Amino acid sequence: MRELEAELGVTTLDTSGYRLALAQFERAADRIDLDPNLRGRLRVPQRALAVGVPVRMDDGSVRTFHGFRVQHDTALGPSKGGVRFHPAVTMGEVAALAMLMTWKCALVGLPYGGAKGGVRCAPGALSRPELQRLTRRYTAEISPLIGPERDIPAPDVGTDAQTMAWMMDTYSQQVGYAVPGVVTGKPVSIGGSLGREEATGRGIVYTILELLGRLNISVASSTAVIQGFGNVGAHTARLLATAGVSIVAVSDSKGGIHNPQGLNIDEVIRHKKSRHTLQGYPEATPIVNEDLLELPCTMLIPAALGEQITGANASRVQCRILAEGANGPTTMEADQILRDRGIAVIPDILANSGGVIVSYFEWVQDLQKYFWKETEIHTRLRDILSTAFRTVWDLSLREKTDLRTASMMQAIGRIAQAHLDRGLYP
Ligand code: NAD
Repeated sequence: MRELEAELGVTTLDTSGYRLALAQFERAADRIDLDPNLRGRLRVPQRALAVGVPVRMDDGSVRTFHGFRVQHDTALGPSKGGVRFHPAVTMGEVAALAMLMTWKCALVGLPYGGAKGGVRCAPGALSRPELQRLTRRYTAEISPLIGPERDIPAPDVGTDAQTMAWMMDTYSQQVGYAVPGVVTGKPVSIGGSLGREEATGRGIVYTILELLGRLNISVASSTAVIQGFGNVGAHTARLLATAGVSIVAVSDSKGGIHNPQGLNIDEVIRHKKSRHTLQGYPEATPIVNEDLLELPCTMLIPAALGEQITGANASRVQCRILAEGANGPTTMEADQILRDRGIAVIPDILANSGGVIVSYFEWVQDLQKYFWKETEIHTRLRDILSTAFRTVWDLSLREKTDLRTASMMQAIGRIAQAHLDRGLYP
């Protein structure tokens, strides 16, 4: 019985991640005095699909995984959002991330709604053929929801360009012709965009540079601490170092490395690539993840999983800026503590929106079958982010509020206007 409860428990929305997303929404909704009818609609997903994903394992047995795809809102256009492969994936977590995607796309002015997907699995423990079969069957199970005009998945934690290639191929095999626009974050060989892989990290760096300028902090005297050294963390580290910031500590799930004089990030990336771990990197001392978050630095960048800055450690973080590379890394309690302490938080929906912005560029290129140069991608990304940052900054000054609340007010306002203009069906 307990086993069944545990199994069915993965389909409830009532999780800490969903409560956090909802609390952030309510806070901003109160500030803009959101129409109560719309508030009721936006508190819950528009559509949510739970799927069983049976996979033939290498030993011949069949194992059924839990998968999800949630579309939070599609008022502005087709929904967009990543697919996460992780053992802690639940419907509630995916639904929370889908809601964040709605706000993120609206905030930076993309013609998209928000979605997210996931499969409860440990990708590192699966062989490559098992991972391919899992990805293909998951894609087939969610195929009633996805498509280039309906809902467009992308990579997230535990998935990458290869996963997207398998998803694109599975969908294309079903319809009988190549449909590159069904996913973004694909390899460039099948319609991926130049600059997509590093886009989230690049966007984080652009928003940090905007904030450093506003706060009159010099880039050259700044230090950074980064939690997570996957796609987002590693690219952020590399691009921040190129901009002149000294990266004093980085970590992955196995632990971190620290050097107050600054790490040589190119060397760290080489080390991680060859050994699949940061451990053993010669010019640094090991540090556990909890301690890493409390190191003194100009900017702290959580770029791993959610709920890392909590009521328990927020009073001990020693940064001037917290840039949310990960989605939902700060709990509500921690958010209040950081606000009281005057630490500037660049919220996830702004800081890490570079990924979905370049995903949008990829989708546009796929639909037009005309591909842009990498410099054009960088220029357009910077343009969108500096406009979004300016809008949020000005709103935060006008409304005397923090950057998260201002970002959410702006985003929810846009979604609300779209709903009011479209009206209620039937
Ligand atoms: P990834 O799988 O490439 O990397 C995740 C990294 O976090 C890995 O280095 C892993 O070892 C590390 N990690 C896991 N648990 C950890 C822990 N407890 N402590 C320290 N490190 C830990 O994933 P990613 O694509 O880099 O995504 C990271 C975060 O950024 C997620 O929250 C994701 O939702 C968010 N995000 C990703 C993108 C994107 O384009 N990939 C876009 C926007 C937001």
